[in-house]
Amino acid sequence: MNEQAVVDAVPLPALIIQSDERISHANGEACKLLGEAILRRHFITGLRQPQLLDTIEATIRDRSERQTRYLTNDGAQDTAFRVYVRPLDTSVLVTFVDETSLEQAGQMRRDFVANVSHELKTPLTALMGFIETLKGPAKNDEGARDRFLSIMETEASRMNRLVSDLLSLSRVEAEERVRPTTPVDLTGLVKSTIHSLSTLAEDADVQIRSDLPDDPAIIAGDEDQLRQVLVNLIENGIKYSGAGTTVTVSVGPVAYETRLKGDGIRLSVKDSGAGIDPVHLPRLTERFYRVDSHRSREKGGPGLGLAIVKHIVNRHRGRIRIESARGAGTDVTILLPV
Ligand code: ADP
Repeated sequence: MNEQAVVDAVPLPALIIQSDERISHANGEACKLLGEAILRRHFITGLRQPQLLDTIEATIRDRSERQTRYLTNDGAQDTAFRVYVRPLDTSVLVTFVDETSLEQAGQMRRDFVANVSHELKTPLTALMGFIETLKGPAKNDEGARDRFLSIMETEASRMNRLVSDLLSLSRVEAEERVRPTTPVDLTGLVKSTIHSLSTLAEDADVQIRSDLPDDPAIIAGDEDQLRQVLVNLIENGIKYSGAGTTVTVSVGPVAYETRLKGDGIRLSVKDSGAGIDPVHLPRLTERFYRVDSHRSREKGGPGLGLAIVKHIVNRHRGRIRIESARGAGTDVTILLPV
């Protein structure tokens, strides 16, 4: 049997160890993973990881197949392989299957479930506490009842907000690959969104200003999703900036933009609030990421708003940039291709 042809035919890192315990053949993928130097070496000096060595040794001894794990680092990140060790004639065939992304996806799923449960648990615990109190000690106390009911309303709306954010996120993610095609006028959309948020802004004593072109600014988009981008960004400006501040929404053309590989439209939502410490900026668009300032704990949602914005912008093949400094306000700029 041509053993080199066998390893070369395997589309994964693969190598063969002979009965003299030397690595006689390895394909290109295996040399890339383990280094060219493994060829003709004893497998103990070539592979080094005790768990893998024990497995190979056992299969050489009793000729039955086994599997194990091989952990390494590809220079950028930790990688995890499942290794299959199988007898082949008088030799042993070892193949490496990269399970890194599978493990990462599993970890993400576990983190996600843990985050959602944690976010629901807090308001739910509060609700159950108040229900208990209203059934028992505060049964006939009218003043307490009104007070508790209004707290319960706040907690229930917090849960409601979480669930609707999660639904939006999953909807946007499901459609992310399908680029939207309907013509949408951003200028008109900004005007109507500002109008719909005017009561919220007034209640918070925040002024909303706009700097818009006279003509419609048309892009191919999904109107509901673009409205959600505007609502999330303007609401953040209002929520996190506080009384006496201003949120400015502007739309304007950008000439050839390398990041978009073409002409684009710039949409910016800028506030005059306290700003965000630059250390947080790279992580702001992650799900459930919150800046743990006093204000965001008190006013904030579950930290999904900017994650939703990022996915919608991705779907539109746009780019998002967040600039902020403590004391200098926050400016979120989105570039969308025309
Ligand atoms: P949420 O949906 O809870 O508002 P986001 O994903 O929109 O969360 O924002 C994440 C975090 O970024 C918030 O917790 C808040 O602390 C911070 N943040 C977002 N926008 C602003 C802003 N305009 N000014 C100050 N902080 C902001």
